[in-house]
Parts: sequence; structure tokens; C-alpha cells
Amino acid sequence: MPVTVYFAAGSAAWREYHDHLPQALTDAGVKAEILLAAPDPAVVDYIVFAPGGDIEDFAPFVNCKAVLNLWAGVERMVGNRTLTQPLARMVDPAMTESMVEWVVGHTLRHHLGMDLHILHQDGIWRNDIKPPIARERTVAVLGLGALGQEAGEALARLNFAVLGWSRSPKSIAGIECHSGEAGLDTVLSRAEIVILLMPLTAETENLMNAARLARLPRGAVLINPGRGPLIDDTALLAALDTGRVGHATLDVFRNEPLPKEHPFWAHPKVTVTPHIAASTRPLTASAVIAENVRRGEAGEPFLYLVDRERGY
Ligand code: NAP
Repeated sequence: MPVTVYFAAGSAAWREYHDHLPQALTDAGVKAEILLAAPDPAVVDYIVFAPGGDIEDFAPFVNCKAVLNLWAGVERMVGNRTLTQPLARMVDPAMTESMVEWVVGHTLRHHLGMDLHILHQDGIWRNDIKPPIARERTVAVLGLGALGQEAGEALARLNFAVLGWSRSPKSIAGIECHSGEAGLDTVLSRAEIVILLMPLTAETENLMNAARLARLPRGAVLINPGRGPLIDDTALLAALDTGRVGHATLDVFRNEPLPKEHPFWAHPKVTVTPHIAASTRPLTASAVIAENVRRGEAGEPFLYLVDRERGY
């Protein structure tokens, strides 16, 4: 009997996955039938899902062994009380690569002061400002998970002095790791560039509030490819205006697309990128989904399971 995989991530997503997912399942040695609709939910073994997809009520899928999310962030799913099946989030090697490149690129922009030369081609020979080398620059990565750890390690390979912060204590070569509230104080007080790579949970919402922004060294740069609500927007705008924060590069927002009238768009010290830091790549993500189906069928533990209590 083939395994029944219901692709419920929507028709737009299916156009990207229809070549890759069947092949990945075959490559994983899984004989599967992929459904694009499930008139009989009881036959479904696995659901491939993404927020905004085809279902909101997971209760009828009584035999479903796991819901496999195509996105890394699960904040829109953990509160769904009908979703009682094991929930796996996406950790996609190509998405990780993409995030590392985005983080390194935007960090280097601020570290090297690139804007000074890119935006001022005005005939003035400004050779009086010499950027420090990376080993003289302290960068903090808040969130040391699948994405934060790789980004931090990449920055450490460039010789940045990297501080990291996570919920549980960690030991990672090249990163000075901290945890807990006191650890966050230490990290923020030393960070010239802060990168937010945490999930959105009840605990992390408004993490960067006025009090925490005030702990940063004057002129620190905030880079947020995590989730918009990690930052208190009003507090950030105030901190930009006082100069406590020198610049904010933001990829994610409370409301997306960021509304045209939002002050971030016109603020001279804010760079907006439209949630493009790291998208899931269908080729590599299909292999991750297929591996989890294979594991489910072999009775092996699923990869990347979400802890509902923690919310990520
Ligand atoms: P992850 O592997 O779950 O890692 C999350 C990290 O945050 C972990 O180190 C975790 O600590 C830490 N953390 C969570 N809650 C915390 C708390 N209350 N206090 C301190 N640390 C806390 O997640 P990931 O795969 O790296 O992804 C991170 C986030 O990036 C996603 O949730 C998503 O929102 C965002 N994202 C954005 C894009 C984009 O294109 N902009 C793309 C993909 C993902 P522990 O290690 O101790 O658990």
C-alpha cells in the first residue's frame, strides 16, 4: 500500500513542488500517493502544509502521522488546537545557506560603512574614515538554532567577535555563548551589530523593547531576519531618533507586506527588505519532507519536531 501524502500547502506551492516532491519520495525509497485534495481525511498518512494553505481544521485527519511544515517559523500553527498530530518545521540546507549569505552581507554593509561610498559619489575624497577589521567588531546573534548558529559561525570565520544568546546554555566553537536574562544584558551591552534569529513566541514577542534597546552601545545596528514582533516598533523608532540605534535593517514585520504608510519605509536609518532573507527551496525542502515520511514509516523519530509548550 502506498503512503498517502496530502499536499495542503496550496496550489501556488504545488507548482513549485510538483517536480521535486515525488522524486524526493522515490529517492527516499518511499512509495507514495500524493493527493491535492482529501475528500476522505481518514486515508491521509502525512500532511505537507504551509500557513495560508488549504486547511485550518486538522481534526478530521485521524490517521495522520505528522504534519510537515514547509516554513521554518510555526507561530501561526502552534496555537491551532485542532492540530494535535506531531508537527515538524522546516530546516532546509539551502534556506540556511541563503540566510547565512543575507546575514553576512548586511553585517558587512554596516561593518565596512559601505553606504558612505555607495551613496555619496560626489567627487569628495573621503579617506579619513577607515573601517575596523572584523576582529575589532563585536556582533551578537540572538537565537542559536538552525539558522542563528550557522550565521554566527560564518561571521566567526570572518574573524568577527561573535556573541550568541539562546534559551538553553550552549557551547559553540568561535561563539561566546550566553543564556538567561543576565546573559542577554551582557550580550546587548557589548554588541555593535545585533542579529535577531529567534522564533516568535509568547516569550520572545517585544524582546527588543525600550529597556533592552537602551542597553546597546550608542549607534549599534539592529538586523532582524527573525520575526517582526521580536521588536517593539515604537521603541525602535524612538531609539533611532535618539541615536541609540544607528540603523535597523529589517526583513520581517508585524504586518506583511509592510503597509506603504509605515514610517519604516521613509526612515533614513531603516532599510526594509521584503521578507526575502531565506525562503524554503523546493528541491532541498522536498528531500527533508521525504526523509521525515521515510522516518515515520520506519518507526524512527521525526526530524525538527516542534515543542508545543515552548512554541518553536
Ligand atoms: P530554531 O532552530 O528553532 O532556533 C531558535 C533559537 O532561538 C534557538 O537557539 C532557541 O534557543 C532560541 N530561543 C527561542 N526562544 C528563546 C527565548 N525565549 N530566549 C532565548 N532564546 C530563545 O529556529 P531557526 O530555524 O534557527 O529559525 C529562527 C527563526 O528565523 C524562525 O523561527 C523564523 O521566525 C525565522 N526565519 C526567517 C526567515 C526569513 O526569510 N526572514 C526564513 C526562515 C526563518 P534554544 O537553542 O535554547 O532552544
